[in-house]
Amino acid sequence: MPRMAQVLLVEDDGAIRTALTRALRDQGHTVSAVGSGMPALSAAVEQKPDVVLLDLGLPDVDGADVLSMLRAVSDVPVIVATARDDETEMVRLLDLGADDYVIKPYTAAQVTARIRAVLRRMGRTDEDPVIIVGNLRIDTRSYEVTIDGRPVELARKEFELLLALARRAGEVVTKRDLLAEVWQLAWGGSDRTVDVHLSWLRRKLGESAREPRYLHSVRGVGVRLAAPEDS
Ligand code: CA
Repeated sequence: MPRMAQVLLVEDDGAIRTALTRALRDQGHTVSAVGSGMPALSAAVEQKPDVVLLDLGLPDVDGADVLSMLRAVSDVPVIVATARDDETEMVRLLDLGADDYVIKPYTAAQVTARIRAVLRRMGRTDEDPVIIVGNLRIDTRSYEVTIDGRPVELARKEFELLLALARRAGEVVTKRDLLAEVWQLAWGGSDRTVDVHLSWLRRKLGESAREPRYLHSVRGVGVRLAAPEDS
């Protein structure tokens, strides 16, 4: 199961706010959205969200000031959204207490991946530490993977790829989402990266693209992990 969170979205652009609210709700998150800084502060205090996504360009108060004020009253994880892609700015925001950031324009997939990562770091998760799909067992604490009771040795990225797919077992996950989530490649990044790791993963799980058991490529869309019918 994906991690669910109460998300406070602070964004003055109505179109982005609506689209992102929908995308986050589709992922099972609870969302409350505000369009300016002062309501954001009161919402953060009153609603006690699990995570705040804070646009820095707000009409009433500078987002960085909102962040400072928020930090004075709450230790809620904050992901800032900024249009400025420069290192000095990022360092300043992290120093002000941001937990992570996304560069605008961002995709919903990037934001949801960042939210998952922040919640994971905060340990705010009720995810079962062991994920089981058919005869595939993934222990997210010990990083141990077994298939049909036999241990599988995976490299770091192979493990993360498998985990990203297993967390959404039965769903087709796009390569774009996988690049964002596993490789933290917001954009750029090549589908080929996913393909290569997928082929290594298949080999280690004892299957192939021609004869898939768990890992199913959906042409032009992405990859779906599902239990084989015989498991
Ligand atoms: Ca804005």
